Amino acid sequence: MSVSDLATHPLTNWQGPLGLPDFTKIGDGDFGSVFDAALKAHEAEIEAITASAEQASIENTLQALELAGEALDRVSSIFWCRAGAHTNDAIQALEREVAPKMSRHFSAISMNEKLFARIDDLYQKRDSLKLDSETLRVLERTWKGFVRSGARLDADGKKRLASINEQLSSLGTTFGQNVLADEREWALFLDGGDLAGLPDFLKSAMAEAAETRGQKGRYAVTLSRSIYEPFTTFSERRDLREAAWRAFTQRGQNGGASDNTAVVRDMLKLRAEKAKLLGYASFAALKLDDTMAKTPKAVHDLLDPVWEKALEKAAADQKELERLATAAGSNEQFAAWDWRFYQEKLRAEKFAFDEAELKPYLQLDHVIAACFDVAMRLFGLTFEEKKGIAGWHPDTRVFAVKNADGSDRALFLADYFARSSKRSGAWMSALQSGYSLGKGSKPIIYNIMNFAKPPVGEAALLSVDEAKTLFHEFGHALHGTLTDVTWPSVSGTSVSRDFVELPSQLYEHWLTVPAVLEKHALHVKTGKPMPKELLDKMLAARTFGAGFATVEFTASALVDMAYHARPDAPAEPLAFETETLEKLAMPDTIAMRHRTPHFSHVFAGDGYSAGYYSYMWSEVLDADAFSAFEETGDPFNPALAKKLRENIYAAGGSKDPEELYTAFRGKMPTADAMMAKRGLV
Ligand SMILES: [Zn+2]
Repeated sequence: MSVSDLATHPLTNWQGPLGLPDFTKIGDGDFGSVFDAALKAHEAEIEAITASAEQASIENTLQALELAGEALDRVSSIFWCRAGAHTNDAIQALEREVAPKMSRHFSAISMNEKLFARIDDLYQKRDSLKLDSETLRVLERTWKGFVRSGARLDADGKKRLASINEQLSSLGTTFGQNVLADEREWALFLDGGDLAGLPDFLKSAMAEAAETRGQKGRYAVTLSRSIYEPFTTFSERRDLREAAWRAFTQRGQNGGASDNTAVVRDMLKLRAEKAKLLGYASFAALKLDDTMAKTPKAVHDLLDPVWEKALEKAAADQKELERLATAAGSNEQFAAWDWRFYQEKLRAEKFAFDEAELKPYLQLDHVIAACFDVAMRLFGLTFEEKKGIAGWHPDTRVFAVKNADGSDRALFLADYFARSSKRSGAWMSALQSGYSLGKGSKPIIYNIMNFAKPPVGEAALLSVDEAKTLFHEFGHALHGTLTDVTWPSVSGTSVSRDFVELPSQLYEHWLTVPAVLEKHALHVKTGKPMPKELLDKMLAARTFGAGFATVEFTASALVDMAYHARPDAPAEPLAFETETLEKLAMPDTIAMRHRTPHFSHVFAGDGYSAGYYSYMWSEVLDADAFSAFEETGDPFNPALAKKLRENIYAAGGSKDPEELYTAFRGKMPTADAMMAKRGLV
């Protein structure tokens, strides 16, 4: 396959309906050769920029660089979509090949001396170029990106950095695949007599899981969060809860080929070396340089007081749970696999209802409609489902997104159900991002979920957490959808990590706005809205269990920071994990939300390394931002919605996050609203 074939290949020339790729014409065998040709095409475009005899200008250098690599973007976006949402052995094998190739390719660009010389030329005279603020910011970020990628290192330094990046990239892939292997490998098969306490939705999800694993008629506990969490919440069988808890917390640490211990050790060593090479005190210092927080100290200033409050709250909660366990006749020492179970009992007692009562009111299709409705009321968007268009899997749904005036804004694709070819979790990504530079590009955004698929003919029902997840990922999708920027590199979610969760976490707030629930939370059988009292109980219960949730999250964030804020790497990461938790006085009755050997945010790639804190950072922002609406007494206040759209959802990374937030809110936030929202103060 040659570069010229890219112009007609279905992976790079998208001829499907509505400007989508034609997924029916894409074969798994095509990716490898198209990748190779697209890499070559991108190289040639870069070569053309650097070979220019003209003096560097914004058009011939910055703009040419931003618009280069379209074919590569296209094949990559489809490939990574498949790798996450619908993989197979061929895709996985190719992933191991492609990841280091891409890393080499982009390292070479960021270490291209001629290219950097042209960018540097523009950067040095930036004040005299009379640039608009977005272009200036793109130039500055591009320049900084080169420098952080080693553009100013000597030849040996550059070579070493390239090798480190390549190793890190392939270790990251291995890490993720190992976690997936352990999740696939393990299942606890149960029979009808083992199901005491389990609600119906869970039993049918477990029956389905057993059937897909070839054990029709039985029930499987799997390590998918959508089964594991309700199982340990509801199962009356302490022995089974313990078995599931142990398997879940041991993922990636089971010895053999899928064990991640050595992978983590190597990654931490390489990250520390990389930071040193680039002149940073630690890997955390390197990563945070480009964020809203900016330093590890700022992260600790946020997390440490939260941690203290969370520990106090969790200790008080545990006493109450222990009393409950004793009263229920347990004479065992209260353990980590008891927490969710007794917490659910306490919730039922205190709020006189259990989570499962809410599920019949949270039908997947209605929660999706609620997401769309909120986007309509805040931003005037409409969503129309287009049936019969092929996606990457038959479960993929396609929606055309229109502006208030009826003009086209974007495409939104969604793939809601769990299957064994999909990695766990929920996420948003883009097949194509939105910008106006050059001939411009319309956003094609997608959401992936892992909800348990209902039996044919039945409606999928969600837990409150799952409904929140749907709103969360949809908030990210809106960030991609509403983007209104010129430059591709600052489009949509291309913002710092500690800002990127603001649009998503903020959006979750609208799920529990009474007007939204009253309209969309309708009982699956009776069609009646969720009763007001159930609604009030749910709202009151929202802060319930905050001690547990904050401890499990913050412990993960603090361990992530401990690994990366030191100048060197620990010789034995798992021992260091234990040591760090001891220093923090971590209760042994709560596990980290993500232990090191399966902490994919931090080790399956580089996305959230030294950055897991940023979910909480964003929560500080979202709590504060939503209180702006509450202060007006109108959750859809039009004037505020307009400011929100302009400064947060549409602005991408076109300005400094601090500036954007202040423009929306009029001031910077503190952690107070977040701690109050969590019920920690
Ligand atoms: Zn998110």
